Amino acid sequence: MSLAHVRARIEAACARAGRDPGEVRLVAVSKGRTPDEIRPLIDAGLLDLGENRVQEWRDKAPALPAAVRWHFVGNLQRNKVKYLAAGGVGWVHSLNSERLARTLSDQAVRHDHRFTALIEVDVAREPTKQGARVEDVPALLETCRTLPGLEVAGLMAMAPFSDDPEGARPAFRETVALADALDLKERSIGMSRDFEVAIEEGATLLRIGTALWEADRPVPAAG
Ligand SMILES: *Cc1c(COP(=O)(O)O)cnc(C)c1O
Repeated sequence: MSLAHVRARIEAACARAGRDPGEVRLVAVSKGRTPDEIRPLIDAGLLDLGENRVQEWRDKAPALPAAVRWHFVGNLQRNKVKYLAAGGVGWVHSLNSERLARTLSDQAVRHDHRFTALIEVDVAREPTKQGARVEDVPALLETCRTLPGLEVAGLMAMAPFSDDPEGARPAFRETVALADALDLKERSIGMSRDFEVAIEEGATLLRIGTALWEADRPVPAAG
């Protein structure tokens, strides 16, 4: 587990950027990890966990403490929303359409729940990315504000693929500017590869998987 190392890097990036580490929340993306691999993070006080597949989350959640705050970060099919609502998943980072917003709200109301949602914005403009188009976000936000079962707290974005963390900066900057313009507080940007750039640009939520377990991986043989 490399949590201490990741936390140190977050604190150093906050210091460089003149930001309070208390306003940058680490979400451990635990996809592909077993409950036994996840528990040391919880024991170290990391209660925000992210998953990207509904079935995997359903298999895992019962083995972990009820105090965990779940974040759903993956592409979400509408017919699976009911499980997230019934299981009390607090955060959905991947709200990308009006249809999904309506389903989230309907299922939340049915299960006496309320989602905190982030609109995923396609600032990467790559065919594989799942977010809403930038120009559609204001209207989507207006629709969401009429729905009782969810509250839009901010925006989420993924940077275009790049080997260089600096490659993420324009996409993160565009996301934060849009969040500012829409008066949205939360900015879920930054993954293992680019979280320091995300902190510099104004991230309030970091979704980090690989870097938290890196030291546990066997070092590949040379050649
Ligand atoms: C897997 C995943 C992450 C974490 O990625 P790492 O590179 O492992 O840190 C973050 N966000 C989403 C949406 C993911 O699917």
